[in-house]
Amino acid sequence: MSSTALRLTDSITQLPRVGAAVAKKLVKLEIETIADVLFHIPRRYEDWSTLTPLGAVQPGMVVTVQGKIDLIHNKRSPRRHMMVTEAVLSDASGSLKTIWFQQAFLTRVLKPGGTYLFSGEVQENQFGLFLNNPAHEPMGTAGLKAIYPQTAGVTSKLLRQLVDRALSAVVLQDEIPPEVRERFNLIELSQAVHWLHQPRNLEEVAAAKRRLQFGELLRYQLRALGVRRERLDYQAPVITFNEELAKQFVAFLPFTLTTGQRKAAWRILQDLERDEPMRRLLQGDVGSGKTVVAALAMAQAVKAGWQAVLLAPTEILAQQHFKSISSLLSPFGVEVVLATSGWDQDTNHQVFVGTHALLQPGTHFERLGLLVVDEEHRFGVNQRQLLAGTATSAPTNPVVPHVLSMTATPIPRTLALTVYGDVDVTYIPDKPVGRVPVTTLVRQSNERSLTVRDIEQAVQQQQGVFVVCPLINPSDLLGVTSAQAETKRLQAELPQMKIGMLHGRLKTEDKQRLMADFHAGTLDILVATAVIEVGVDVPRATLMVIEGAERFGLAQLHQLRGRVGRGTVAATCILHPTAGTPAPERLGILERTHNGYELAEHDLRLRGMGELFGTKQSGTEDWLQFGLPDVQLIEQSQQAAEVLLDEQPALAQRLGSAAVV
Ligand code: ADP
Ligand code: MG
Repeated sequence: MSSTALRLTDSITQLPRVGAAVAKKLVKLEIETIADVLFHIPRRYEDWSTLTPLGAVQPGMVVTVQGKIDLIHNKRSPRRHMMVTEAVLSDASGSLKTIWFQQAFLTRVLKPGGTYLFSGEVQENQFGLFLNNPAHEPMGTAGLKAIYPQTAGVTSKLLRQLVDRALSAVVLQDEIPPEVRERFNLIELSQAVHWLHQPRNLEEVAAAKRRLQFGELLRYQLRALGVRRERLDYQAPVITFNEELAKQFVAFLPFTLTTGQRKAAWRILQDLERDEPMRRLLQGDVGSGKTVVAALAMAQAVKAGWQAVLLAPTEILAQQHFKSISSLLSPFGVEVVLATSGWDQDTNHQVFVGTHALLQPGTHFERLGLLVVDEEHRFGVNQRQLLAGTATSAPTNPVVPHVLSMTATPIPRTLALTVYGDVDVTYIPDKPVGRVPVTTLVRQSNERSLTVRDIEQAVQQQQGVFVVCPLINPSDLLGVTSAQAETKRLQAELPQMKIGMLHGRLKTEDKQRLMADFHAGTLDILVATAVIEVGVDVPRATLMVIEGAERFGLAQLHQLRGRVGRGTVAATCILHPTAGTPAPERLGILERTHNGYELAEHDLRLRGMGELFGTKQSGTEDWLQFGLPDVQLIEQSQQAAEVLLDEQPALAQRLGSAAVV
């Protein structure tokens, strides 16, 4: 055999005894290169490390034993004519019979006189104890056996063999410098890969995973920090804190700011005072009052002579923000322009509130000082970059704006530190006093009459009712309630009620009119798709019914129910799973908890990253393969990234773009 080492990028067919047939099967597991094999993560481990003496086995025990084969032969079972392989094993403590069915080839593999490891269940029949259909391994491999995610024709045993060959065929260079590894107590890469697949105990597995996850995090942090430092090359406007303005702004509010709002505002206003562009994410549960905080920052920017833009993901939300920002800023004589589809692109104003109509090519703001992006996770990666980059300022404007992003999608701290590694994050942990949590109930479809009665009652008390459906048209998906079908059904059940239907495909004017009517009480019920999810504020709405609730993520449902209970009256949210589907257990979590962060953690565990962020735009799936990293490891990877960027920038750059670290 040639002694040249293989590279990680080489095809697995370069490994000894891997032919086209095996390679084809492996493609189903997305294994094509040596690296794919080595970084194919075991799903679990079987313990072959604790050996039970043959003389000590008891019926019912699942054991691993080491025994010499005294005798082995095949015979036909008398009754069912199956091929039975029988062996007698022995060790110093005693002997034990072993039986396999339909595995006649074993007599060629297991040689009399040879000693092997066997793992299986001990059973008993009229002839005594025996080991039933055990797996076997050569001696000397006692330890944990990796069990891999499998596909037809690719067993864990085959994968273990491939890994074994790959391990001896490549030389894994650890690019993380020894002093960094030492400081953060990390084992070497080759050791880690070895222990991932062939550990002697669970401590080795943990050490291996820690090292590999650290590598993934480090790569990510290096990139994030790189972005952060590049930002230092740009200039942002210095917006000096105007105390008088802040005092007046607060004095004009019909309420007192919560502590969380005040702290968040303080941080943001401090950021604005620096010439380094702010990139801050303001996180706060639905109803925590992020808009006011943004408005204060916008007031500061405008009074310092800069333009401010608030960007919203939907027209409805833009219109609503337009209203509230206008009224919050009106005492200061600031003019606010609404920029949705059909906007004239006249950028000669102070404040703009709008949708991505603001992002049309050729739109330039001469003096953009602050960009606020509401529900920023709704925007795709490219749009985000466009926003955060220089694209939004005029070519004649040498400065880039400060950017404040806001989101009510609660991002667990671990993720905030990684997904948003290149931004600063501020939380508003509290809510305005007097808010009552929305009572949430899961109801089966046979209890729908109760819900209809609840709707009637709410409307009788002049309260508004939202009915949310996963789809617009009935034809889209079988069995799932659509807004159209639901509107019809409700209209038939409650003929005296005024029902409107709102969805994303309506024209702006129609949406506007529907929202205004619902707001004013001209409409009793608003049947809608999830377009109303973000931000919509109708204080008179107290009841929300969500059809096809199982089709939504928990965090999304939490956002939806945040649309009610924004007034003073206690609100209710009723979740209906699609008729004929049992209510998934996770819906029950909404009945019990009102903490958005907790729900997001659940989502993350139950449905993964994509769910939390709506699409696969976060680009993190590929490195979260070891599960959610713990905060300490993330922080350490951040420290390591800083040290490397300072002391070994060339290496840092290489590691940041490497496939494996
Ligand atoms: P979100 O954080 O979900 O975007 P909003 O900014 O839309 O929340 O605020 C929700 C509602 O709470 C608005 O009607 C707003 O006027 C009101 N609000 C904001 N801050 C306070 C506060 N400190 N006290 C009472 N009401 C507040
Ligand atoms: Mg909001």
